[in-house]
Formats: sequence, structure tokens, C-alpha cells
Amino acid sequence: MSHDVETTEVDRQPLARMDELVSLCARRGFVFPSSDIYGGINGFWDYGPLGVELKNNLKSLWWRRVVRERDDVEGLDSSIVAHPRTWEASGHVESFSDPMVDCRACKRRVRADQRDDAGPCPSREGTSEHDWTEPRDFDLMLRTQIGAAAEGALEAHLRPETCQSIFTDFKRVREAARQKIPFGIAQIGKAFRNEINPRHFTFRSREFEQAELEFFVRDAERASWFEYWLDERVRFHRDLGFGDESLRVREQDKDELAHYCNKAVDIEYRFPFGWQEIEGIHDRGAWDLSRHSEFSGKDLSVTDESTKERYLPAVIETSVGIDRTCLALLAHAYHEETLEGGEARTVLRLNPAVAPIKAAVLPLSKKLAEPAERIARELRREWNVFFDVAGNIGRRYRRQDEIGTPFCVTYDFDSEQDGRVTVRERDGMSQDRIAIAQVRSYLGERLESAF
Ligand code: ATP
Repeated sequence: MSHDVETTEVDRQPLARMDELVSLCARRGFVFPSSDIYGGINGFWDYGPLGVELKNNLKSLWWRRVVRERDDVEGLDSSIVAHPRTWEASGHVESFSDPMVDCRACKRRVRADQRDDAGPCPSREGTSEHDWTEPRDFDLMLRTQIGAAAEGALEAHLRPETCQSIFTDFKRVREAARQKIPFGIAQIGKAFRNEINPRHFTFRSREFEQAELEFFVRDAERASWFEYWLDERVRFHRDLGFGDESLRVREQDKDELAHYCNKAVDIEYRFPFGWQEIEGIHDRGAWDLSRHSEFSGKDLSVTDESTKERYLPAVIETSVGIDRTCLALLAHAYHEETLEGGEARTVLRLNPAVAPIKAAVLPLSKKLAEPAERIARELRREWNVFFDVAGNIGRRYRRQDEIGTPFCVTYDFDSEQDGRVTVRERDGMSQDRIAIAQVRSYLGERLESAF
């Protein structure tokens, strides 16, 4: 059984929609400010019960695609705090800073290269121009101390990117996993940056998660591996559900490139606040391994099998922000609709593969709770399944639509007799009546084909 319902998308300003999304995320427990009861802390966010599921789903899709489905990529989970020499070798101690200027009148602080976009100064009489200080460098790395005694404690940093330990662990991982060039090492983990202006919800945070792959290749094969990984990563984002209208690739100009980078392409998503990077593909050459060889005094080169010559492999990096991609998924999925008959509904059209809850089991009446709960228990062996007995069925559907649950399984009074339940699909709101014994395979087929 299936019936299509005509819907009209409500046309709203993108930024107003963004505000609605931020409020939904807090209300329904996706993401909200960290330390909220103390007024929050700028640039730090907490993922609630639904947010952590969404994030974990995204991370496991990445891990499956980049690590598990391949013979030539190994996984790693390194510590957040690394030996201080790491950041000297990587160049962060020397150059990981942004030159900033402050307006002496209104106290506004912006990056020096963004002075011209700062708008008028509200605090100066007779002129609207800011009274800028000279540019000063701001250290973007968060500091910490190792050692309980204040005296003699070792100054360390929280990593500003996850990739450096991949380089420092390169030799160990290659030997342990018996890998030959070309091969990669991947990891997902937290990174920290003292961003000057955290903004756009989780888009620019001070604590965030990255999923990075460093793929080690021969120098002569850099260009072809770059294209290969760019295509792979674009395919990943397309499979998540981002189409041409919302995804693009942009090659960085020479003057945008980081000092270690020969070529960089950003994968950008069209957020409500404009096109912005969610992932970078970088040709880092042999810079990282050569620097760590030099600073550690350890030989990180490998032997060419045919010529027996030693060489340092070059690196193609793919680096995606988990939080930024979650935000893109949420922004992309958020829709407000007016249904035929005038009723409004908010629906998150999330790809079922990332949806926090895969199915909700809803008995039509409290009297039917027991047999319905048996179905939920069975499904929970495989998926995150919600069970809800309370309230009007229409309202229960709406609550699931709002958090992106792709399927609702309704157990009604007929189910007692015919052994069937109604499965309602989120987007088209079509309904199928199927045998209870088939619910698991019915959902399995649809969930597995989603990514
Ligand atoms: P941006 O130019 O936006 O600051 P970046 O070029 O410095 O980003 P990279 O160092 O290439 O970013 O990091 C790779 C990925 O890590 C980015 O594409 C982004 O998804 C994520 N990322 C970087 N900084 C942040 C941040 N402050 N908050 C959330 N995610 C971030």
C-alpha cells in the first residue's frame, strides 16, 4: 500500500533556516553549546544523544570506505599530545599563527587581511573608519603542561591537526603492517585551534574532529594519486547525498597554499552562509617526512625494490572535518513543508545511512505495547531503534520526521490478527503493510542500499 502526499516546500531565507536548524539541534539534542549552564564557552560544542549517533555514523562510513574496504590503507589512533619537537618539525611553532589587528575605538579584532571587509566603526566620532593597531601574530595552538609540579613542567600543545603523528609513526606502521609504497595511514581524532573568530555554529570551532588520510607515493606518481583521491572523496560526498547544486571543487591559488603544499583542492559545500570548505586534498610532497627525519635524526626513507635506492615517499593527503560535514548534512537535510491540507511539518531528509535513529516502533495504543516492543527488541540487535508509546500517532510521526528517522513501524489492532505492521517512509510518507517476520529484511535492504 502506498499513497503519495503533495507537499510544498516553504521558501525561506537561508540564514533564517540556519537559525531554525540551530534551535532544532539544541531542542532535539543534536548539538548545543558546551558548558551551557555556565553560559557556554565560545568555539566549543557538545553533541547530544542524536548528534553523537549522527557523528558516529559518518565516521564509520568514512572508516569503512577509506580503511576497511581497502588493502592499501592502515588505521591509527594516536595520542592528542605529541612530543614538542613534532610541532617544531611540522613548522607549526614557527608559522601557525594569524596576523590580527584590533580597532582601538570599538575593540573589534579581525584578521589583518580582512580589515577592508570589517564594515564601519561604530565608536568613532566624525568618521566611520576603524583605528587599527599594527598587525600582531596570534598563536593558533592551544597550550598545555605535562607534569603535575608547576616548576619543571614540560610545555606541550594540543594537536592542531591529526596528521603529524601519522608521519612520526610512518616507519613503525609500515613495518608492522608490512606495507609497500603506495599505501596510506588514516585516523580520525580531535584537533584544537585557537580560532580568532569561532562562528557559524560548529563550522569554525576551537575543538573539532578531523578524518585524515596520508597516502604515501613515489614522487613521479603524485599527480595521478592526487586525481584518484580527489575523485574518491567527491564520490563519498555525493554518496552522502550532496548534489551538483551544493558541492563543488575549487583549486587553491598559489598564494593561498600552505608552505608545505604543492597543490590543494578544496571540496566545498554550499552552506546557508555561503560556499565553504569541508575537505581539503593536498599534495604535501616529501616535506613532512623530510622534516621529521631531520628533527628526529631517524631515517624514514624506504628502499625502491627495483633500483635498491633509498628515497623519501611523497604524500597525498585528504583531510575532512567531521563536524563541518555533520553541519552540511544537517543543513542539507533540513526542510519545512506544508502538507496537502495545510499542516506544516519539519523534516530532516538525512541519508538513512547517517540518520541517528533508523526506525521508530510505534504501537497505536498502550494496550499494544508488549508485542510492539518485541519487534523493537529484535530490530535493536542491528540498529538504533526508538520505541514510543505515548501520544497521538500523527504527532509521533512528526517527532520522528524532525530528527530524520527514515522509517516508522506502526503496530495496530489489526496486527494482532494478520501478523502485519505498517511501515511508513519519512520523505514520501508512503506506507507499506508487511509481515512482522519480514520487517528486519525490509529495513535491511533499504538501509544497506543507502550508501
Ligand atoms: P579554514 O581555511 O576553513 O580555516 P583550513 O584550510 O585551515 O580551514 P585544514 O587545515 O585543511 O583547514 O583542515 C582540514 C579540515 O578540517 C577542513 O576542511 C575542515 O573541514 C576541518 N577544520 C579545520 N579547521 C576547523 C575548525 N576551526 N572547526 C571545524 N572544522 C575545521
